[in-house]
Amino acid sequence: MTSSIQAVRGMNDILPQETPLWQFVEKTLAKVLSASGYQEIRLPIVEKTELFKRSVGESTDIVEKEMYTFADRNGDSLTLRPEGTAPCVRAGIEHGLLHNQTQRLWYTGPCFRHERPQKGRYRQFYQCGVEAFGFPGPEIDAELIQISAKILEKLGLKAHTTLELNSLGSTETRKQYAKALVDYLTPQHAQLDEDCQRRLTTNPLRILDSKNPDVQALLKNGPQLADFLDEVSREQFATLQQYLTAAGISFRINTHLVRGLDYYTNTVFEWVTEALGAQGAVCSGGRYDGLIEQLGGKSSPASGFAIGMERIILLLQQTDQPIAVKTPDIYFMSDHPAAFQRALILADQLRDAMPNHIVMLHCGGGNLKNQFKKADKSGAKLALIIGERELAEGKVTIKPLRDNTPQFDCTERELLQQIRKLEPTLYPG
Ligand code: ATP
Ligand code: MG
Repeated sequence: MTSSIQAVRGMNDILPQETPLWQFVEKTLAKVLSASGYQEIRLPIVEKTELFKRSVGESTDIVEKEMYTFADRNGDSLTLRPEGTAPCVRAGIEHGLLHNQTQRLWYTGPCFRHERPQKGRYRQFYQCGVEAFGFPGPEIDAELIQISAKILEKLGLKAHTTLELNSLGSTETRKQYAKALVDYLTPQHAQLDEDCQRRLTTNPLRILDSKNPDVQALLKNGPQLADFLDEVSREQFATLQQYLTAAGISFRINTHLVRGLDYYTNTVFEWVTEALGAQGAVCSGGRYDGLIEQLGGKSSPASGFAIGMERIILLLQQTDQPIAVKTPDIYFMSDHPAAFQRALILADQLRDAMPNHIVMLHCGGGNLKNQFKKADKSGAKLALIIGERELAEGKVTIKPLRDNTPQFDCTERELLQQIRKLEPTLYPG
């Protein structure tokens, strides 16, 4: 026997048992986003490597060590997208969607990062991204956060998540603060762990993000980002907090929230949960006013967030909100080719008449006894049978499978009416 091939580590199959939950989440997202006037955009999975180097940042973890980058047959360097914002901005610039106008966009699809796979962290994972372009000021940040809160509410996850907020200030502020941080930490270099020592030279702000308690203790006595904020950033951040409070959205200021990508400025936020261990961020976002210009477009403000779909699914599974796998309502059987031909046509008509239900047609022949076993196992409420006699008389036999009602036959014309009598929910009159 030849050996079987397995999926790539960290890349998961989503099995039929799980897809109803995914569909529920996807439907909820689409509904909430469209209600606020956000439009879907579909983007390629592969982009030029340069796009991510220029946007996410050369010295971020993502670009330094997590990207799936390869040379295609022409020798061009391409990358499986590690996130969606840069591709969305690229598309917006390319198609003239961003200049002198506003856009509210969303997308969903897989992203790829070569990280260490564990619960809630995979090498292929799905994001739903939401981006708003052309809006300066804190209003759009308030709208985006309100939408993210609504999504969590509609998914039944509000009680399991907390909103954290921070302001990173302008690019200039970040630069000044990073310098102060480096000046403060460099003499105490030896007290930092290896990861933070590396970040000290590559991406000092990311040290704030460290989970190491010794590092956090060190940071407490160091320079604080909040003290570096310019007047405008400070005001915008205060206004945003006012808006959120007025809208009944509670939050916690986390001055160490920095986010892993270089392009963020001013407001950043994250919805976190305690229920998923170390992988606590289920939705992350913020403002990125500099990115459009950085990618060659005309400068324009921008703000957005991304939801980690697997983490949402895990949270739903953990907080036991069961979404049932749909079982067939009707199982249609037949015992010879001419009868099957009739069943094929009638099943199609039934599906048109009962669009929200499942009519499963038995395929592959076999005797009726075996077909009954399959019908029973399928979970269907009713079995319909066409045999020699039914075919000759233009009839169908109906057998209720979930109670003791005896089977009976009816003409093809009466079929829908009889189904309605037995199962009013299947075909409401
Ligand atoms: P994390 O703190 O988990 O490393 P991040 O800061 O790298 O997250 P973003 O790049 O902002 O995350 O991505 C947005 C969201 O996508 C995250 O909040 C998270 O829910 C999810 N996410 C990020 N990386 C992964 C991954 N490797 N597997 C599954 N979900 C992920
Ligand atoms: Mg990460």
